[in-house]
Amino acid sequence: MTSSQSPQPAQYRPGSEPARQKLDPHIDRYAARTAGMTASEIRALFAVASRPEVVSLAGGMPNLAALPLDSLSEQMSELVARDGLVALQYGSAQGVPALREQICEVMAMEGITAHPDDIVVTVGSQMGLDMVTRLFCDPGDVVIAEGPSYVGALGSFAAYQAQVVHVAMDDDGLVPEALREALAQAKQEGKRVKLLYTIPNFHNPAGVTLSVERRAEIVEICAEHDVLILEDNPYGLLGFDGQTYPSLRSMAPDNVVYLGSFSKTFASGLRVGWVLAPHAVREKLVLAAESATLCPPTLNQLVVSKYLATHDWKGQIKTFRENYRERRDAMLSALEQHLPEGCTWTRPEGGFYVWVTVPEGVDTKAMLPRAVTARVAYASGTGFYADGLGSRQMRLSYCYPTPERIREGVRRLAGVLESEMEL
Ligand code: PMP
Repeated sequence: MTSSQSPQPAQYRPGSEPARQKLDPHIDRYAARTAGMTASEIRALFAVASRPEVVSLAGGMPNLAALPLDSLSEQMSELVARDGLVALQYGSAQGVPALREQICEVMAMEGITAHPDDIVVTVGSQMGLDMVTRLFCDPGDVVIAEGPSYVGALGSFAAYQAQVVHVAMDDDGLVPEALREALAQAKQEGKRVKLLYTIPNFHNPAGVTLSVERRAEIVEICAEHDVLILEDNPYGLLGFDGQTYPSLRSMAPDNVVYLGSFSKTFASGLRVGWVLAPHAVREKLVLAAESATLCPPTLNQLVVSKYLATHDWKGQIKTFRENYRERRDAMLSALEQHLPEGCTWTRPEGGFYVWVTVPEGVDTKAMLPRAVTARVAYASGTGFYADGLGSRQMRLSYCYPTPERIREGVRRLAGVLESEMEL
């Protein structure tokens, strides 16, 4: 029916056709795959949580105040003055070769032997997540992921209409038996499992780390079931005692696509990350990268490259670690001191996050507006699951606020929880 044939007055009831069109006149034009694209709860929260009176334990912003801003600024202007014609020009879709060599050195700190040819530089590892999902997932394909999992990865999987099946974790990370069960179940249902997406180190949001024994077992299970592993490791160098763990990639180079990032070890706003992939996959990734961005930003890559060549970047990572350890300690002791009986939480050895479970009857999503009124924000657990779980959980980030603000934030949160438990 054309609009000239439909003289009925528009009634703006939510969900009615005119209401949908009023909200977005393009509603009927979008591709079917956009149905899975919904605003993340965390993004929606950013606006309120960033008001100065609110202590935000919600976001995962790195604490860049620890960076040597003066010398970086000098270096950046020098870069444009001396090498501007290269730095401001298009570059290779795969990324600047010198940077790819340096990335190999960075990965060597976690026991990875790699060739620069097998690296594709990306606009943050988020772009890697998008490209890998684009390459491997048809609508309905299964991606197995820890439950809970990184919200940005869930967004990529949803954007390509993959079905996420969560597997349980405990204090030693992903439970191998749960993985076996999920694989058996998918097989029984005739579904194709395309990827195991995992964050083995200092998990976002769970704060736990996969034990070394389990790493070997998980690699073996995936080889047995012919499932490719997508290993996401932005926090691996942020272990508070400087400890690193063998990457899954180092255990099975042919069956792992590895995602790395400078967001947490240097500067998130530069948006420089990378994918390390088996050779054949790397070729496809370059094509995918080309169609997405032509090439990653040359200037930003050169900034990272110069920083790695001239700054004590390992010392800088140590400074970051010390900063985050102090904040983690502040959070754990405040939780111990203030949180009501019946709450439990993880004790991260690195990274940015603590995962809290609250007593039965408390719904963290429903409680959030009341927490914001009490001037504290957190990320409620449901955003980290694709299947609606997580209503008794929340993620608390200690990476950004000062220890003092963290203590105050946890004190406020405890007050909100106590009144919630009395309801
Ligand atoms: N993976 C995980 C587990 C993350 O926590 C993040 C950022 N919070 C990313 C990927 C994306 O990082 P970036 O794009 O900044 O490299």
